[in-house]
Amino acid sequence: MIITIDGPAGSGKSTVAKLVAKRLGCIYLDTGAIYRSLGYLAQKMGVDTENGQKLAKLASTIKLNFSGDPTNQRVILNGEDITERIRTEEIGMAASKVSRHPEVRAALLQLQRNFAEKGCLVAEGRDTGTVVFPNAHVKVFLTASAEVRAQRRYNELLQKGVKISFEEVLESVQKRDSQDASRKVAPLKPADDAVIIDTSNLTIDQVVERILELVERWKEKHTSCS
Ligand code: C5P
Repeated sequence: MIITIDGPAGSGKSTVAKLVAKRLGCIYLDTGAIYRSLGYLAQKMGVDTENGQKLAKLASTIKLNFSGDPTNQRVILNGEDITERIRTEEIGMAASKVSRHPEVRAALLQLQRNFAEKGCLVAEGRDTGTVVFPNAHVKVFLTASAEVRAQRRYNELLQKGVKISFEEVLESVQKRDSQDASRKVAPLKPADDAVIIDTSNLTIDQVVERILELVERWKEKHTSCS
């Protein structure tokens, strides 16, 4: 079974997807971490984020492993644990830049699809329901206002001790939204068959429960058909 959870930065999709994966005993695929890893590597190796061909070449060489359970997953890139290093606003922006190139997205497609061969999968990102897994069984698109999403990011960063103002976070969220939504390939948008959930006034648990209900409904419908 494949469940996709897409949405903009700060919509709560990572937290929700991890919990859904844990509750269902599925593999959790954080596709954003893949783009962040490439952004990180490009920066480290001095590869221009405007050069799609070079980035695609770099993307085809990366060895990425996710270890640990969904709520405590580590990201290992070419043997280096980069879990914390890729969570900065700077790497988020680098990820958004590298992910605009069609060559890069094509180079990373199979890597993402391979995860579905290992069993039940919860994938989260921007285009998991539209491009990566168009035949997913349950598709969800999470939204929330830019202010609510920036506030969530800001709280997270404060907790980590990062010195940044709310205005800076809001600006970064808005810039990344417009970059992700306006790109030509795989722009941020809900799949036609996705269920849209506005999380602005919902708790994490409420969103998780709604998604689990959708999964249950899907299962009931498909067992009663067979
Ligand atoms: O979700 P996260 O904030 O970690 O994603 C970082 C960036 O990676 C996004 O802003 C987006 O540009 C890119 N991304 C993407 N497609 C995905 C997941 C992430 O383009 N499926």
